[in-house]
Amino acid sequence: MKTEVAVIGAGPAGSSAALALSKKGIPNVLIDKKNTVGIPVQCAEFVGLNINTYVNLSSIPSAISRSIRFTDIDVGDNIYRFDGKGYMLNRDVFDRYMADSAVRAGTSLLTASRVFNIDGRKNRIDVLDLKENKPSKIYYDYLIVAAGPKSTLSVIPKNRSYIFAAQVKVNLLKGLDSVICFFRPYIPYGYGWIFPKGRFANVGIGIEKPISGMPLSFALDKFLEEMRTAEFIGTEIAGKTSGIVPVSGLNDINTGNIVLCGDAAGLTHPITGAGILNAVMSGELAGNYIAESVKTSKNLLNDYREEIESVFKKPMRIAFEKRSVLYPSMTDIKGINDKIKYLWPSFNEYYRKT
Ligand SMILES: Cc1cc2nc3c(=O)[nH]c(=O)nc-3n(C[C@H](O)[C@H](O)[C@H](O)COP(=O)(O)OP(=O)(O)OC[C@H]3O[C@@H](n4cnc5c(N)ncnc54)[C@H](O)[C@@H]3O)c2cc1C
Repeated sequence: MKTEVAVIGAGPAGSSAALALSKKGIPNVLIDKKNTVGIPVQCAEFVGLNINTYVNLSSIPSAISRSIRFTDIDVGDNIYRFDGKGYMLNRDVFDRYMADSAVRAGTSLLTASRVFNIDGRKNRIDVLDLKENKPSKIYYDYLIVAAGPKSTLSVIPKNRSYIFAAQVKVNLLKGLDSVICFFRPYIPYGYGWIFPKGRFANVGIGIEKPISGMPLSFALDKFLEEMRTAEFIGTEIAGKTSGIVPVSGLNDINTGNIVLCGDAAGLTHPITGAGILNAVMSGELAGNYIAESVKTSKNLLNDYREEIESVFKKPMRIAFEKRSVLYPSMTDIKGINDKIKYLWPSFNEYYRKT
């Protein structure tokens, strides 16, 4: 098969890229290894109000589980409250809507199809149809890699730092209109969260396991126990998930006629771990720059890189530095209390030097 643009990964980044391409009439194929786009969900599902700049959420009410008004930061002794308007998504519905929008605009979607090789010299990807166990080749003029945080695909840089996250969906005992982040000594280089979803909540932890040496299940069990004792949550577990979040900042995002976007580009915030909005933004930008490149027969991918760097490079670098300097000193409640204002971007102190 030959296509103008191949897009690997139908998460928010890849589907946004495919939609941008199709809106401009550029033929493209969107490929995902999942049987059904969006399933399983590996996300705590909070997104800020500014997602509406890119995706009009009011047109997809089923993608919204509930509205959120505040972000609370719980450090044990103190709870800080910030304006934090946004939504708890139903990520599966959201991801499917994004991919379906691209398909309606002209994208060809291949599901249950895993890209297992990129041959950049021949402009070719090798794809395995997972249902038929049948390989095929797709030739492209441009390639967008939106395959998420970690992949065996060689263009995604290795040796990066990751947060390892584990989460359960459990019944919520308190009415909440906030997302709450908990900093505790037993959750090193990361935090715990309760993000409400109706009668349930996504309750999880993320830690930088290789540095902390802390087993994920130990920290999660301790966190769930603390939350049960505080009568935040009950014992009715409706689901479990896990995943990884890249936390070392922006990767090299273009080479030749290949670009990265979303988590593959390292675009999750190194401290909060938020990445949905950045995935949508970067995917749309990648799609637009490639559409322009195709139309003008001029490779504009350095312009994509420049625009991404102008928006993300500095904030990502600051967040990464703060992560490296501050987390090692947050090993007890006093360390957390002393440092939290410099670590979390909702505080004014975050924007001062540490
Ligand atoms: C536990 C957890 C909680 C999180 N909570 C939040 C949150 O509350 N808010 C927030 O903003 N962000 C959160 N994030 C981060 C957020 O989920 C990601 O930033 C976002 O999903 C990135 O989108 P993406 O499109 O780049 O990648 P993904 O959503 O990971 O999509 C990549 C797609 O590529 C496909 N794929 C991968 N390899 C291949 C291959 N070889 N061939 C074919 N297809 C392939 C995958 O199946 C997947 O569908 C969380 C992450 C985790 C792990």
